[in-house]
Amino acid sequence: MTPARQTKIIATLGPATETREAIAGLLDAGVDLFRLNMSHAAHEWARRIVALVRALEAERGRPIGVMMDLQGPAIRTGDLAAPFMLVAGQTFAFTVRGKQSAHPQWAGVNYDDFINDINPGDHILIDNGLIHMKVLEELPDEVRCEVIIGGKLGNRRHINLPGVKVNLPALTAKDRADAQLGLELGVDYFALSFVREAADVAELRRLIPEPVHGPRIIAKIEDQCAIKNIDAIISAADAIMVARGDLGVECPYEELPIIQLRLVNACLATGRPVIVATQMLESMVRDPYPTRAEVTDVANAVKEQADAIMLSGETSVGQHPARCVEVARRVVMRMEREVPAHFQEGVALSSAREKLARAAVALADDLAARSIVVFTVDGETVRRTAWMRPKDALIIAICPNPRLARALTLLRAVVPVVWPLDFNAPAEVTVEKTLRHLRESGHLAVGDTVVLLSSQAALPGMADSIRTRVVA
Ligand code: PEP
Repeated sequence: MTPARQTKIIATLGPATETREAIAGLLDAGVDLFRLNMSHAAHEWARRIVALVRALEAERGRPIGVMMDLQGPAIRTGDLAAPFMLVAGQTFAFTVRGKQSAHPQWAGVNYDDFINDINPGDHILIDNGLIHMKVLEELPDEVRCEVIIGGKLGNRRHINLPGVKVNLPALTAKDRADAQLGLELGVDYFALSFVREAADVAELRRLIPEPVHGPRIIAKIEDQCAIKNIDAIISAADAIMVARGDLGVECPYEELPIIQLRLVNACLATGRPVIVATQMLESMVRDPYPTRAEVTDVANAVKEQADAIMLSGETSVGQHPARCVEVARRVVMRMEREVPAHFQEGVALSSAREKLARAAVALADDLAARSIVVFTVDGETVRRTAWMRPKDALIIAICPNPRLARALTLLRAVVPVVWPLDFNAPAEVTVEKTLRHLRESGHLAVGDTVVLLSSQAALPGMADSIRTRVVA
C-alpha cells in the first residue's frame, strides 16, 4: 500500500512534458493535477495533451485533475525585430495602437489604454521584474521611460504596473475562446489570472453552463487590487491560488511571505481550497537538486496547511520534470509526518453538515484512523471534511461521477474513487461492497480502522451519520 500523502502536487505541462512517456513519468512521481498555461498553449496542443491525460487516467484507473489557466488581463510587449540590451540610465519608449516611435529603442504594447492608466513617476516592471523602468513623460501614442535596472528585452514580455488599476476587461477575447475550448475538453478547473474583484469570477462563471459538475473556478491572486478585495473574491471563487510570480512583482517582496500566510489562513477560515504556486523548486529548471531554501519553501506550504503546491517552469520547460515532482513529494511527506495538519477548532461553522464533518475528523484523529470514507454525490460533504484537516487520515471520497472525482483531486487529503452508488440497495450492503472494493484495490488493508460518513443523497439509509469500522 502506498504511504499516505495529504498535500497535492500540481504540475504545469509544456514542451518538456508533452509526450505520453513524460506525462506518465510525472504521474508515477506523484502528480495529482495537471495545469495547462494558456499564456503559452495553442488549442491543438491543449486538445492533444488533454487526450493523453485522459488516456493515462483510464489506464491507471485513478482520477486525474486538469486545470486550464486563462491568461486574463495581462499586458505584454509586442514582437521585436531583435532583442534589446537595455542599460540603467538610458531611455526607452513604449507605443500603443501599433504606432512606430522616433526613439531608437522602442516596443509596442498590446493594450491601448496603457498610456491612460499610468502617469509620470509610475514604475514599469518587465519579465517578472527583471527589467525596471520609471515613466518620464507621455506623448499622444507613446510613453517614454528611464531604465532603472536593465536587461535583455525579448518578444512578448509580460509587463507589471504595481499599484496601477488596469482597465482591461477581466476576460479578454482570447480568454473567452480558451474557456470555450476548456468546456469542450471537459477540464476540471479554470484558473483565472489577475482577478481584481468578485465580479471577475462571476463573469467567468456565467460562461459555464453546467454549475454542479462543470469546471470550478480558481481565482489567482496576483496583485494589490485582489488583496484589497480578498474576502469577496474568496467567497465568489471555488479555490484560491497564491500566484507568487506576479504577486512578488506587484507587491514589495518582503510582503510576500505575509501575504501568503494571510491568504492561506483566510482560506482555512472559510473552507476554500488554496494552492501555493510558483518558483517552489525554480533552480531545478536547470539543476538536479533543489536549493535548501526551496526545500524549506515547500515544507512551509505544507506547514501552513495549503491544499496543494504547484510547479510551473520546473515541469513545463525544466530539465528534470519528474525529479522535481519526486523532490516535492519527498519534502511534503516528510513535513506532513513532522507537523500533521490540525482541524480547524477555531472556525465558525454555520451548518449541521459542517459540524458533522468536524465530528468525523475529530473521531478519526482520536482513533488514529487510517481513512475517513465519505459517500458523496455532489462533493459537498467531502469538501467540508477536507476543510477540517484530518491529522493523518486520508479522506476516501466515494463518488459515482468521474467529473466530480477529478475535481476532488485538488483537495488536501482527498483520494477520490469512482464507484457506483446503488441508491435502492440498503445502506449496509453498499458500505460492505465499497469497503471490499477499497480493500481489493489497495486503498485499505485488513485491520484498518475507518470512519464512515455519508450525506442524505449518497446513502439514503445512512444519512448524516458517523460510523466506525475495522476493515475485515
Ligand atoms: C504566478 O504569477 O505566480 C502565476 C502562477 O501565474 P503565471 O504563471 O500565469 O504568470
